[in-house]
Amino acid sequence: MSQSTVASTPPSSAAAPAAPPVRTWGRTASWRPARRAAPHDEAELAAVVGGAADDGVRVRAIGAGHSFTPAAQTDGLHLDLDALAGIEAVVPQPDGTSHVTVRAGTRLHVLNRLLWSLGLAMRNLGDIDRQSVAGAISTGTHGTGARLGGLATQVRGVRVVGADGSVRTVGEADPAGAAERELFEVARLGLGTVGVLSAVTLEVVPAFWLHAREEPWPLEAVLEDLDGFADDHDHAEFYWFPGTRRALTLRNDRASADDVAALRARRSGVLGTVRGAAARARTLVDEEVLSNGAFGMVNRLAVAAPSLVPRLNAVSARALGARSYVAPSHEVFVHPRRVRFAEMEYALPRAALRDALGELDGWLTASGEPVPFPVEVRFAAADDVWLSTARGRETAYVAVHQYAAMARHRWFDAAEQIFTAAGGRPHWGKLHTRTADDLAAHYPLADVARVRAAADPDGIFRNDYTDAVLGVAH
Ligand SMILES: Cc1cc2nc3c(=O)[nH]c(=O)nc-3n(C[C@H](O)[C@H](O)[C@H](O)COP(=O)(O)OP(=O)(O)OC[C@H]3O[C@@H](n4cnc5c(N)ncnc54)[C@H](O)[C@@H]3O)c2cc1C
Repeated sequence: MSQSTVASTPPSSAAAPAAPPVRTWGRTASWRPARRAAPHDEAELAAVVGGAADDGVRVRAIGAGHSFTPAAQTDGLHLDLDALAGIEAVVPQPDGTSHVTVRAGTRLHVLNRLLWSLGLAMRNLGDIDRQSVAGAISTGTHGTGARLGGLATQVRGVRVVGADGSVRTVGEADPAGAAERELFEVARLGLGTVGVLSAVTLEVVPAFWLHAREEPWPLEAVLEDLDGFADDHDHAEFYWFPGTRRALTLRNDRASADDVAALRARRSGVLGTVRGAAARARTLVDEEVLSNGAFGMVNRLAVAAPSLVPRLNAVSARALGARSYVAPSHEVFVHPRRVRFAEMEYALPRAALRDALGELDGWLTASGEPVPFPVEVRFAAADDVWLSTARGRETAYVAVHQYAAMARHRWFDAAEQIFTAAGGRPHWGKLHTRTADDLAAHYPLADVARVRAAADPDGIFRNDYTDAVLGVAH
């Protein structure tokens, strides 16, 4: 174990100031680990984990710190896996997909570029690409698409470093047996509670382009035929501006060969030129709604004069125009977020969406609470991943946000009550107050506990958050 990569936090003194605390992107949690390590490869990772276990020190890996919950928090060993990056192997499959084994610390934006250069792409993605592969799958990160599942449904296998420092490879079609299959289940979406992922095998598809259509609609027009809105497109979502009856709709469908050929013809036919042009043609969401300077200004104004928020939202909603463009899939999925916020997101049974939005609207109107961020609605297919928020049911995700500098608790408390009453399940990486006691009605937590106890008998991969939401397995 090299001193250059493993360090105990020194006692504070004038000569050696303590390392700064680790903070989440949303500034929603921070902590000071006793030890930090940034292993260069899997062998070093295994040695560091084994060493911590021998010393009775708890271990948590961190990805990009983009969870709002303290999922990666630790007062023990904090593992930074940024050096474990890149693609290890690509195996084409008879059905036209490919199985790509990628090191666990790889950031999604790096992976997307690597895949594109190989003529491949992730089937679906969330709306940012800063996360690590392991961090994203471990909390159930998802995008939108009524026929598609979240990122964990795209995982076919993992390599996981266990509490004893051993490395196990487990996968979906594991010939070794049921125990391995169950370990895989909690390893691919389990908040890092059965070990540290060192590599992930993803099922990816041939590279594709998306035809994006972004249009402001009356909210009623979306709600009138929610099923049609969700089902008629590969990836549909909308943003509703509180206090208004306006929604920005985003409908992305696979571009036809003709669409792409027409785009190439217009743009000289050079792929780089087309992609550059697409990148410049920033989407409405980027330019007008969520991430730009104007939206930052709206939020700063909201802090200074909360009573202006309804009018600011009306202006934001009216400022929207329509846009349609064709671009590589990952450029369409991802929107940079430069305005810092806190977020809560719940997975609802799709049939409960309309009433839940009506209740949010009712509460906002009655309370007058200033909320300058739009409410985001996305869709997913039912899946069978044990801890997936879309497990066993067609799902609508509803996300509420608040500007980081504004009070969020009344808004989030009210939204959480509405979501909970609607049978909602909280995103594991976004703010919520639910606990294992009531989440047990939604997930096979007894099975998860059994798998965790076998994989981690001394509980070195737990923290307060996993204790709260999954229970103590030991
Ligand atoms: C601006 C913004 C936009 C977002 N957009 C979306 C979205 O569109 N869809 C969505 O579903 N979510 C979204 N999220 C939430 C985000 O995708 C998740 O919280 C995700 O887990 C963050 O990934 P990360 O790499 O930062 O992981 P972290 O937050 O660093 O870690 C998450 C969990 O993974 C564990 N972990 C990390 N690495 C490993 C490893 N190697 N082995 C085992 N466990 C590990 C950590 O211990 C922790 O429990 C967004 C968050 C932000 C801040």
